[in-house]
Amino acid sequence: MLVGHLGAGLAAKAVAPRLGLGTLIAAALLLDIVFWLLVILHVEGAVVPGDFATRHMLAFSFPWSHSLLGALFWSAGAAFVWTWSGGEGKYFAFAPAVIAATVFSHWVLDVLVHPPEMPLWGPGAPSVGLGLEQPAALIVEFAVAAAGLGYFLLRTQISMPRRVAIAGLVLLAALVSAAAAFSTVPPGDILTLAGTSLLAMFVIVTIAALAGRET
Ligand SMILES: [Zn+2]
Repeated sequence: MLVGHLGAGLAAKAVAPRLGLGTLIAAALLLDIVFWLLVILHVEGAVVPGDFATRHMLAFSFPWSHSLLGALFWSAGAAFVWTWSGGEGKYFAFAPAVIAATVFSHWVLDVLVHPPEMPLWGPGAPSVGLGLEQPAALIVEFAVAAAGLGYFLLRTQISMPRRVAIAGLVLLAALVSAAAAFSTVPPGDILTLAGTSLLAMFVIVTIAALAGRET
């Protein structure tokens, strides 16, 4: 899932306008950022399952980045780091809570689409996942993205070119999500996929940070 997480970040920006959009998009993507970094470190991984051509999904092993306990840890950690680094937490108390909720929204959205492969607390723990099939998973993801973008556009004060840039970014991410949702060609090297995924998320966060500025 990609564009659904962007929707969550945009909704968070509408709720807490004084937080940076780049920060909130990064928060919404944090579990995947952690996952791909751990893939590079050979701590977590993903393999092409036998039913890839029909389910269009890799089989993931991600007990640290995507377990329930892990997600709670990263949520609290992100809120703590944000507050500790002196962010705007001085000015309003609920910002760290919004950061934590945005990070945790990733786990909730992922549970909808992943098969029962998301552990509750770590390696070997019972796993959960509703495993929505395509196109249902994509429809849910698009609905979340559209709701998040709509809510954001309703509340934001940014100029029209900036609105268009952010809507364009969401549209592009939607196309990437759709392409992935129906891909029958499994990705090649997992480390290459990790690199391109991290690069793509870096670009998305940077564009969101720049376009989301209110001045
Ligand atoms: Zn994820």
